[in-house]
Amino acid sequence: MECKSFQTEPLPYPYDGLAPHIDAETLRVHHDVLYKRYVDKLNAALAAYPDYDCYSLEELILGCAYLPPDIGKTVFNQAGGAFNHRFYFDGMRPAPSPEPKGRLGEGIKNTFGSFEEFRKKYKEQGMAVFGSGWTWLCADCDGGLKIVNTANQDTPFSIGLHPLICTDIWEHSYFLQYKAARDSYLDAWFRVAYWPKAEEHYEGLRRCLTVG
Ligand code: MN
Repeated sequence: MECKSFQTEPLPYPYDGLAPHIDAETLRVHHDVLYKRYVDKLNAALAAYPDYDCYSLEELILGCAYLPPDIGKTVFNQAGGAFNHRFYFDGMRPAPSPEPKGRLGEGIKNTFGSFEEFRKKYKEQGMAVFGSGWTWLCADCDGGLKIVNTANQDTPFSIGLHPLICTDIWEHSYFLQYKAARDSYLDAWFRVAYWPKAEEHYEGLRRCLTVG
């Protein structure tokens, strides 16, 4: 089977599509320079190892302990960066629906009390990231919902969770526009968070739990 190297996935909206909540300059640097750098470094690390050509990002992250030792840590970090950024950009849209619907909406209400309570907890979790990292809404293997942080470019896969939606808390995600005001950035993120995509991830997971 012929497999291509990893691609920097194009943004699913124009650079100014999330403005004024996330401005065009922030998105351009974040997507075209920083995200692309993870993809390029991942491809460079794997270039000498065609055996792994058809592996997905998820397979590389979860299987990193079995990779050749000289590339294991690099692949773990760069594949994590590539996955996390792709997931983050795809989890935002211009003028999205303000609240999750369907089973995910119900799950959020049952787990956190209300969407407002969930938003408060998610923001607190985002504010609690020390150094560089990510805040996630995830589902566990039973479909239970959890808000977690991961450090650096670690993914929820490494702690046995399935990501539904995420916020990049590295300062490069907001510093150009919001300077040190991470709380304003988190409020802005909620105005572009694309819940239909999170619902899709949750439905996909539920199908797999039912079938599996
Ligand atoms: Mn980033």
